[in-house]
Amino acid sequence: MVADVPIDLISDTSTRPSEGMRAAMARADVGDEQRGEDPTVNRLCERVAELLGYEAAVFLPSGIMSNLIAILVHCRPGDEIIAARNTHIITSEGAGAAAIAGAMITTIETADGRFTADELKPLLRPARPRAPRTRLVSLEQTSNKGGGAVWSSKAISDIVAAASTVGAAVHLDGARILNAAVASGEPPAAFSGPCDSAWLDLSKGLGCPIGSVLAGSRDFIEEAWTWKHRLGGAMRQSGVLAAAGLYALEHNVEGLADDHDNARHLAAGLAACEGVRLINDPIETNIVYFDVAGTGLSAPAFAARVLEHGVRFGAQTESLLRAVTHLDVDRAGIDKALDAVRTVLTTHATKR
Ligand SMILES: *Cc1c(COP(=O)(O)O)cnc(C)c1O
Repeated sequence: MVADVPIDLISDTSTRPSEGMRAAMARADVGDEQRGEDPTVNRLCERVAELLGYEAAVFLPSGIMSNLIAILVHCRPGDEIIAARNTHIITSEGAGAAAIAGAMITTIETADGRFTADELKPLLRPARPRAPRTRLVSLEQTSNKGGGAVWSSKAISDIVAAASTVGAAVHLDGARILNAAVASGEPPAAFSGPCDSAWLDLSKGLGCPIGSVLAGSRDFIEEAWTWKHRLGGAMRQSGVLAAAGLYALEHNVEGLADDHDNARHLAAGLAACEGVRLINDPIETNIVYFDVAGTGLSAPAFAARVLEHGVRFGAQTESLLRAVTHLDVDRAGIDKALDAVRTVLTTHATKR
């Protein structure tokens, strides 16, 4: 039973809505979102469109639906998407791109989810009747499986320029785009603006219970709305949810810097433990991958032992674990997590 882990670092989705956020939700002005009549949803969409550098935006229940709808708008069946092999649309979205959009995905092997325009160029197919149409390049800011690595705005602009030579669009999965903005000091639009579509997640580091906002041109968002209806993502008085998003954009962005500090603190503490090896070093944002093969414990066993001390990490493979910092675990919580790790390792070493 893991419903109430005091120090839950399995993901930045572990946050619970704060008292302030709940109060904002309770007070929200609402209307029928499907008819465009929910004033709070409309405000959130305007705010995010501006933040990401686009004309318009649409409120959606999840980031996965944002990725799927973007793919559905950009691609026709048989079209090709190019993305890093470890990207969320490939690893964690039920193969929606294939199952629903009928798109194929060509992958790029990367160290941390980032690739360069020079690595992309040889994969871009000129139009030929027998070849798939390279229609979309999909990037992730920050790269989740890449340990929260941040794409520079220059790298993204170079990708956009390369993609345009074959008429391919660029989509930015901005689940953690605000982590990238806070870590780099660049405004989020510096990353998303050059692309053709982008979204941000409200339910990751921003601390909302639900929601994402997908942005693009007015025409793009009009088509996105058709898919939102078709997939059953059109809602009614969802201003209650959008109010959480507006609250988070107002109150929970600066704190992402603390999450990044905490991730570095956690990583330094872990790296000092015998047998633990950091995978993404230096830590760029709020995600820490570490390998425990040298401790004599498997990753699942390691995770199970620290869980007994009220600390949760995610075991990714037999030897790899992931920890993600967020606003519900403060510095004292990170210190407790490190205490738990040391206790588990000492106990295990004594038993051997
Ligand atoms: C979490 C995540 C998603 C999906 O977002 P949900 O809101 O959980 O559906 C997509 N891409 C990346 C990189 C993510 O980390």
